[in-house]
Amino acid sequence: DGVTVTLTDISMHKRQEQDLRVAVKALDVEIGERKDLQDELTRMAKTDSLTGALNRRVLLRRAKREVATARRHGRALSLVIADIDLFKKVNDTYGHAAGDVAIRAVADFCTNGLRESDLVARIGGEEYVLLMPETSLERTQLTADRLRQMTEATPIRADAIEFLITASFGVAEWEPGDVTIEATLVRADTALYAAKEAGRNRVFASQPSDATGQPLANAPVSVASSVRH
Ligand code: GH3
Ligand code: MG
Ligand code: MG
Repeated sequence: DGVTVTLTDISMHKRQEQDLRVAVKALDVEIGERKDLQDELTRMAKTDSLTGALNRRVLLRRAKREVATARRHGRALSLVIADIDLFKKVNDTYGHAAGDVAIRAVADFCTNGLRESDLVARIGGEEYVLLMPETSLERTQLTADRLRQMTEATPIRADAIEFLITASFGVAEWEPGDVTIEATLVRADTALYAAKEAGRNRVFASQPSDATGQPLANAPVSVASSVRH
């Protein structure tokens, strides 16, 4: 009779409801998995797989934003190029895998030794760029020297071997005359080259431009100072 029909309808309804709940749950899991996969792909596209540091492309994009902020608000913006010293010898002596461990270690020193707002990128084999918003040249120099000391003092452990490495650092501050970060990078690279020439395991800073925004004439390789302890 009518009552029975109603009961059948309700139980059918209940079953359908339950089926739907199961389907929604399965879909939820699937969406979660897809999101994880998407996050992983995004991370892979942005970072260097050996160290987890940002890659050059992402660094340049983020730097563009930081330059715009520095310009708009008149804030300081500095950067460091760090390069492991005589790294070819590390590879030759201890092997490529041990070299990789050293590359990862220096990236870790940088990441752990900087602020959350600082960016760490690996832009070459054993070369890194550290971008430091709202940080003066002087402070950046001190930070770079802290990283230099850390690198010098921390043994690299790879399998059964242990060895020491050093790194050199070139520091430069963004100036309003720098249209893009590339100009600042060039100055940091010049300072890095001078640090290598001077014997490695040191921090050199590029000299700030004068008030007209031109690099100081005759400034020797535009390097003002070295920090060495
Ligand atoms: P310098 O002090 O002047 O920087 O000397 P260097 O030997 O470090 O100079 P260079 O930049 O010429 O050597 C870098 C070496 O890094 C060359 C290359 O074989 C090695 N390399 C590049 N990428 C990787 C990597 O991903 N892993 C390892 N293990 N080695 C790498
Ligand atoms: Mg090197
Ligand atoms: Mg190099």
